[in-house]
Amino acid sequence: MPPTVDITEPQRTCVGCRTVRPQSTLVRYALAANGSPVVSRTAAGRGAWLCAGGETCLQKAIKRRGFERAWKRPLTAADYEALRIAHEAMMANMSN
Ligand SMILES: [Zn+2]
Repeated sequence: MPPTVDITEPQRTCVGCRTVRPQSTLVRYALAANGSPVVSRTAAGRGAWLCAGGETCLQKAIKRRGFERAWKRPLTAADYEALRIAHEAMMANMSN
């Protein structure tokens, strides 16, 4: 059975490469209540979407301050470190 395509699926823009895709092909980064970045589709607050799989869009997003724009606040070095950790944890889960 081929996967069914839901044409009503919301489209999101990757904060790294600016490609517009169906949201199921993107990963959502949100800010947890304590202010640290988490990978979650359901976390409250502003979300920053990135293409799933791979470092490229994360690097681009960091370079072009995509997360700052999406979250409307400046990010510290510690925030970026937390982002990288969240990203690595997400990648590890995907390869399981
Ligand atoms: Zn992308």
